[in-house]
Amino acid sequence: MSQIHCHFCGGIIQDVATIEYRPPRASAQFAMPQPTPCNCSPPVVYEHPPVLGGPEEDQTPDGEAA
Ligand SMILES: [Zn+2]
Repeated sequence: MSQIHCHFCGGIIQDVATIEYRPPRASAQFAMPQPTPCNCSPPVVYEHPPVLGGPEEDQTPDGEAA
């Protein structure tokens, strides 16, 4: 498991479930990664949120619709 650093303070995010994902933008300030835990509430990560669901996601092929 890779550690995720908070982009606001640079600390290590303890609970990834609380991350607030924000779209990356040029004006975003990225803090230097630090070995200390993040204390932000919520932790901020300037990335697109991970896609929910996985390979098991039900995908209906398009084209066979009656
Ligand atoms: Zn933080």
